[in-house]
Amino acid sequence: MICAVASGKGGTGKTTVTASLAAVWERPLCVADLDVEEPNLHLFLNPELGAEAPAFMEIPVLDPTRCTLCGLCAEFCQFKALSVMGKTLLVFPEMCHGCGGCLRLCPEGALSPGGRELGCIIPGRAGDTGFLMGRLRVGEAMSPPLLRAVKARLPRDCAGARDILLDAPPGVSCPAVNAVMDADVVLLVTEPTPFGLHDLRLAVEAFRPMGAALGVVINRAGVGDAGVADFCRDENLPVWAEIPFSRAAAEAYARGQVLADALPELRGRFTALMEHVLTAAAKRAAGTGEARHA
Ligand code: SF4
Ligand code: SF4
Repeated sequence: MICAVASGKGGTGKTTVTASLAAVWERPLCVADLDVEEPNLHLFLNPELGAEAPAFMEIPVLDPTRCTLCGLCAEFCQFKALSVMGKTLLVFPEMCHGCGGCLRLCPEGALSPGGRELGCIIPGRAGDTGFLMGRLRVGEAMSPPLLRAVKARLPRDCAGARDILLDAPPGVSCPAVNAVMDADVVLLVTEPTPFGLHDLRLAVEAFRPMGAALGVVINRAGVGDAGVADFCRDENLPVWAEIPFSRAAAEAYARGQVLADALPELRGRFTALMEHVLTAAAKRAAGTGEARHA
């Protein structure tokens, strides 16, 4: 079972929830940080990290001796990564999205596959829990290919795990969609504020069509207003956990502690959250339909 922990915007407590779920989850478990632009789950789980493996994306490399400057590749590339300028074909590797189209299109075989380093993939182990994370290279703008490379390693690095928790990137753009697209359950972490509601709406709109069971976690419950709760009720979205706003929780977070461990009174909420996720995944697997409002 794969559960992605996502949020419509950053700063809602997505990683806090992932780390606490990892603390209470039944084993065998594997946890992956897919927030490759700003991975920080390891700061909470303190895994023993293994060797970093560089990850590459395929980009075209030009053999100018074979290029006839026909311009077909430049015309094809939607990202303007290729351009015929006078008597030269210019290749802009940083603008390439790695679709591979130009490599297949060139009638002269003047383009061959090369690699642009995107960042690295780091495996690890936090006690009895498998761990995997990606880290984007500084200056690299393309996070989805690295994120997909991390996901491609899940079957190998999480072999033996019954369940996988994914800490997805925030937002609803390509990185987040790539992160949650294979999940059985998507947990949407939000906060009860107008900003939280706005971004929760976007997240529901983006992720609901993907077919995973959706559940909501309201973090910092007690501040703000009832807008998020009303929206969840109207949309038949189950609220599986509320994490109360407290100074103690903020201090534990600032110390890099896992809430479920630092504040034992919250542990039961995360255990109940795990049970909601497992039940929703089982219902989905059995084809019995959507999760219901708690
Ligand atoms: S398609 Fe091939 S031959 Fe034509 S401009 Fe591109 S690299 Fe050169
Ligand atoms: S691989 Fe795709 S995106 Fe990259 S240069 Fe070629 S056509 Fe453009």
